[in-house]
Amino acid sequence: MNIFTMGGLGLEKKEDAGRGVATPAVCSRKACRAEATWQLLWNNPRIHTPDRRKVWLSCAVHREWLEDYLQTRGLWKETQPFPMTVDPGEAH
Ligand SMILES: [Zn+2]
Repeated sequence: MNIFTMGGLGLEKKEDAGRGVATPAVCSRKACRAEATWQLLWNNPRIHTPDRRKVWLSCAVHREWLEDYLQTRGLWKETQPFPMTVDPGEAH
């Protein structure tokens, strides 16, 4: 049940911050400050409605790492180039 406690990854903060418009578009991987070039869309069916999409940003280097992280947990939906419009109704 603590699948989203992702303690050492530092991803929760970035996700919350991602709701704001002033967030720099940098990689979601902890300690990585690289410019994001990919966005990973994911959904946790246990806590999100099926059409909900959460977004992690990723640099080219960490895209695979983050994809694997989400895929391992069955949360990954798709990866898109960033910036790109995700879903006008997302995260509100
Ligand atoms: Zn990175």
